Amino acid sequence: MGSKTPFDAIVVGAGLVGLSLTLALLQQGWQVLLLDKRTAPDKPARQPFGIRDYQLDSGFSARVSALNSRSLNLMNDLGVDTDWFEQNSAVFHGMHVWDGDGTAKIEFEASGRIVENHFLEWALLYQISQLGLTPAWQSEISDIDYSRDEVQIRLTTGEDFQGRCLMGVDGANSVIREKAGIRVIEWSYEQTAMTCTVQTEIAHAGIARQCFTGDGPLALLPLPDPKLCSLVWSGRNTSDRMAMNDESVCQEISSQAEFVLGEITAIDRRFEFPLRQAHAVQYAKKNIVLLGDAAHSIHPLAGQGVNLGFADVESLVNALTVLKINPDQSMAKIFARYQQRQRPKNMLMTATMESLKRLFDTDHSLVRWARNTGMDWLNSQDLIKAQLVRVAAGL
Ligand SMILES: Cc1cc2nc3c(=O)[nH]c(=O)nc-3n(C[C@H](O)[C@H](O)[C@H](O)COP(=O)(O)OP(=O)(O)OC[C@H]3O[C@@H](n4cnc5c(N)ncnc54)[C@H](O)[C@@H]3O)c2cc1C
Repeated sequence: MGSKTPFDAIVVGAGLVGLSLTLALLQQGWQVLLLDKRTAPDKPARQPFGIRDYQLDSGFSARVSALNSRSLNLMNDLGVDTDWFEQNSAVFHGMHVWDGDGTAKIEFEASGRIVENHFLEWALLYQISQLGLTPAWQSEISDIDYSRDEVQIRLTTGEDFQGRCLMGVDGANSVIREKAGIRVIEWSYEQTAMTCTVQTEIAHAGIARQCFTGDGPLALLPLPDPKLCSLVWSGRNTSDRMAMNDESVCQEISSQAEFVLGEITAIDRRFEFPLRQAHAVQYAKKNIVLLGDAAHSIHPLAGQGVNLGFADVESLVNALTVLKINPDQSMAKIFARYQQRQRPKNMLMTATMESLKRLFDTDHSLVRWARNTGMDWLNSQDLIKAQLVRVAAGL
């Protein structure tokens, strides 16, 4: 392959993690090429609120993220500050988790913000544009050559570029991971998630709620309107719920959530997402590195996916600071250090999510009894709950 402008880094994937990474690198003075196969997103606009029978036009996107305090600190460092979050997100200050059998619950303090993904994406893109970079949208890689010191890439258009390193932030089905020959350990959940905005009879009071129903975890995350929540319900019967009419699905959600916020009075457009748990066996190979869902995708039941991706960004950027002292340090060494730090932490979170999912996804009466007794015991243990709060905050 021939070569063109040499970049310090070629970043593939302009999702929330890729955008944060790019911004952090630009702030360090790096020359970055940012590629994404999708078309440039439009500036999100708040749609007018409308409601008729059970049908809701809430103006809120169905894709939101619950950001913990560590992620919020990173966003602040990247220039998406508290004022922006005040205007564009909802604060939560507690989590209530309970079992659909109605026998056990845990309540603890946890602070963070629920933000619509496309609004945060736009805020990061704005900061990137302020540093003079325009992402190359509708760009896909056809070939990678990482046999030499620098990485060479060829796009499907035939254009060639080279960079000191290649950063794969291209999501759960990462092409960079595949082209680098990095294997993943993965298992399918045989579950999909339904996400949408719902209107509730009772105000959410800034509490993120999650109920383990007979068909998977159902989360109600507070939105800026006190009676609107973002719903994420993962289970095996999602397609049945997608096919129900608005009135029936509202009744189903109300009863499965045990009327915790009274009746669900209206529902916005529903979306269905496949769920998959996958973990790359390596995050780094020579001068190629993986971050975010390209390295690890986990069940949304504890809302940790993007938080883990942001922690990857923080960790990699910290590892790269060695270049200020030793500019000739090999990327392979730096990336290996990042992998050594991040992979065990992410593996632990993945294993925890999987155990939780299995624990709550069983009909075995003895397991259910032990689980519910354990949850009640946990709810009475302030020290352990304080530790749970630390984990939820990403500390
Ligand atoms: C229903 C649901 C609810 C969730 N809720 C939460 C939550 O509350 N909190 C939380 O922390 N996490 C949550 N997650 C997880 C979270 O959404 C993901 O972890 C996060 O979006 C991953 O970000 P990413 O940037 O790594 O990847 P992605 O968001 O997948 O972005 C990847 C980018 O790469 C681009 N791309 C892909 N392939 C190529 C290619 N070949 N060439 C060029 N570009 C490419 C894509 O267009 C995309 O822009 C949820 C997930 C689901 C499914």
